[in-house]
Amino acid sequence: MSIPPPYLEEVSPGIFVYVQPDGSWFLNNAGFLVGSESVVAVDTVGTEKRAHAFREALERTTPHPVQALINTHAHGDHTHGNFAFWPQTAVIGHERARREILHSNAPEGVSERFPTADFGQFRHVPPMVTFTDRMSVHVDTLEVQLTHLGPAHTTNDVVAWIPERRVLFAGDLAFNGGTPFAMAGSVLGWLDILPALRAFEADVVVPGHGPVCGMEVFDTVETYLRWVADLARGGHADGVPPLEVAQSVDLGQFADLTDPERLVGNLHRAYADLEADMGGAPRGGALADPVGAFDDMIVLNGGKPLNSHA
Ligand SMILES: [Zn+2]
Repeated sequence: MSIPPPYLEEVSPGIFVYVQPDGSWFLNNAGFLVGSESVVAVDTVGTEKRAHAFREALERTTPHPVQALINTHAHGDHTHGNFAFWPQTAVIGHERARREILHSNAPEGVSERFPTADFGQFRHVPPMVTFTDRMSVHVDTLEVQLTHLGPAHTTNDVVAWIPERRVLFAGDLAFNGGTPFAMAGSVLGWLDILPALRAFEADVVVPGHGPVCGMEVFDTVETYLRWVADLARGGHADGVPPLEVAQSVDLGQFADLTDPERLVGNLHRAYADLEADMGGAPRGGALADPVGAFDDMIVLNGGKPLNSHA
């Protein structure tokens, strides 16, 4: 299947989004804000070739140097391309994103899990500037407010909000057209932070995957996550394994979202959330059997490896 090439969209003067269709596994969005003398980027992309293409698209738009690069979270699709800006650019992210990139994002693991993706060769570059709750980055007079929310999609999600333009880079707290994925974070935690996301009342939402959209994207995310949470409560109470629950349900209105096999990964996480809540433990801890959860997604995908067009 051939998918359309990435494209740039100027969502507000000087604020560009780099959209990678079709938004499925490893095809994420990035972006950048162009100031009078310098540029601040938000996220990179997941493969060596695509990282160079993103950088070239940026350089065709502006000759200014990229002073800072914000990572919305540690996942490789958003951070593998950090290498293409290093060491000229200060990479900024949550302190747990740094830790995760340094210690747990093993490059060989990801190639094995996504054998159809062409990752290429690159150096893993973690954020060099880290924070825990919030910080601001300024592009001329434009303030970019970074806020950590979660655990939700991961334990280190950061949104970038530009109040003057009412533009929200939501990272993977918003999937537009794709199945929301909480395996590395918390299903229940994501539901808990939806009011905080809605409180931005953004005119433009830049999702982590899929076309630029508005606040309505959070309605789909919420409906999906509530459905997962309900399935998990029933399955967990009855002692039914996540895979059996996933295999027994009709996707219904979610059948058109890409990467539907994420359902079982999400169920593993929702079970862990319920157990964390019952045991008084924090949500978002390591899954008891992350490899098993991943293997279950392959089973749900008809026994085929997870497909990435990246
Ligand atoms: Zn992600």
